[in-house]
Amino acid sequence: MAVSLESVTKVYPNGVVALDEVTLTIADNEFAVIVGPSGCGKTTALRVIAGLEEATRGNVRIGGRVANRVPPAERDVAMVFQSYALYPHMSVYENIEFSLRMRRRRLGLSRDEMRARAREAATVLGLGELLGRRPRELSGGQRQRVALARAMARQPRVFLFDEPLSNLDARTRWETRRELKELHRTLSVTTVYVTHDQLEAMTLGDRIAVMDHGSVQQIGTPADVHDRPANRFVAGFVGTLPMNFIAGRVTADAAGERFVADAISLPLPRARFERSERADPDEWTLGIRPEAIELEPAAERTELARLRGRVSAVEPMGSEVVLGVTVGRQTVSCRSARGDRVERNQWVELGFDMSRSHLFDKRGASAARPLVWNGGPDG
Ligand code: ATP
Repeated sequence: MAVSLESVTKVYPNGVVALDEVTLTIADNEFAVIVGPSGCGKTTALRVIAGLEEATRGNVRIGGRVANRVPPAERDVAMVFQSYALYPHMSVYENIEFSLRMRRRRLGLSRDEMRARAREAATVLGLGELLGRRPRELSGGQRQRVALARAMARQPRVFLFDEPLSNLDARTRWETRRELKELHRTLSVTTVYVTHDQLEAMTLGDRIAVMDHGSVQQIGTPADVHDRPANRFVAGFVGTLPMNFIAGRVTADAAGERFVADAISLPLPRARFERSERADPDEWTLGIRPEAIELEPAAERTELARLRGRVSAVEPMGSEVVLGVTVGRQTVSCRSARGDRVERNQWVELGFDMSRSHLFDKRGASAARPLVWNGGPDG
């Protein structure tokens, strides 16, 4: 069942514009993630889909039909929250069954069918052994699985998840994330998942919508938003390490365009960037991920643009090392598996892969040439 928001604006009574003309289509069976910093409007978007908040303007469609006036209970969506919201005095089984019991008549289920559904959901989520326990006798991960089983037993046409894993420790979170993805593969139910954690978004989503200040900044596959960020906000928000941003200007000569900032001068690949003639040549920001800067590249890597700098920081990160290298007045970070042999104050050569660089104008918009959309659920 597809879900869409069409130019949805939500203004709370206190005047806060939580959603500003949000347009978003989630295809049938898709796993979509809405990600963004705290306060960007993610939860509001989910609550508008669930019917817990009314849109001030615009339409919510569920399965093609405008659902603005459909009460939450009739939308056939199940929501799972960060706080598991389990009933403490009920057993695991009763908690799972409860949501069905409330709707049994409307769903036209016999008592046996209701029990079978609740047991099946418990089995799928590996709760078979725990059915008699109370929530307080469970770990956080188990409680979240009960909340999931309760939502699943309803067999909704849409799952809505609001930061369901944020109360779990890192390892359980990682495991539960996998289980969720697997569950989605098995059940094939349209899923909208909200998180502030970009890594979680990247690993879970078929497509992700990055939000900031109530508006959608970019929608795309994880690779799209990582490799071709639409603007500086997305570029800075997505990625395991922060992208390097360098403010400077663009100059042109017979050999082509270059990005220049103090001691840094780097060639800009002609095929990658498109600039309006009217754009101010003096106010550009170059963006390049630490992964696109190689430490001491081999001589035959002639495609890399080289600069020398001095190591100002060495941060071990397990299998690799993140280095801060100062070139003129700028410090850029790069990552290296061999970096552990590098010491502070040492001079090193950096190889910039400019085919993976980004250029942003003073409003933050990307100057990358638009690429032909490479597929995705809605083409
Ligand atoms: P978080 O990750 O912190 O939960 P979020 O991205 O989910 O944030 P929302 O909860 O959707 O953000 O809130 C968006 C904006 O609307 C915020 O500025 C918030 O303070 C405001 N807001 C949320 N709920 C209400 C409300 N009931 N009344 C007034 N303002 C609200």
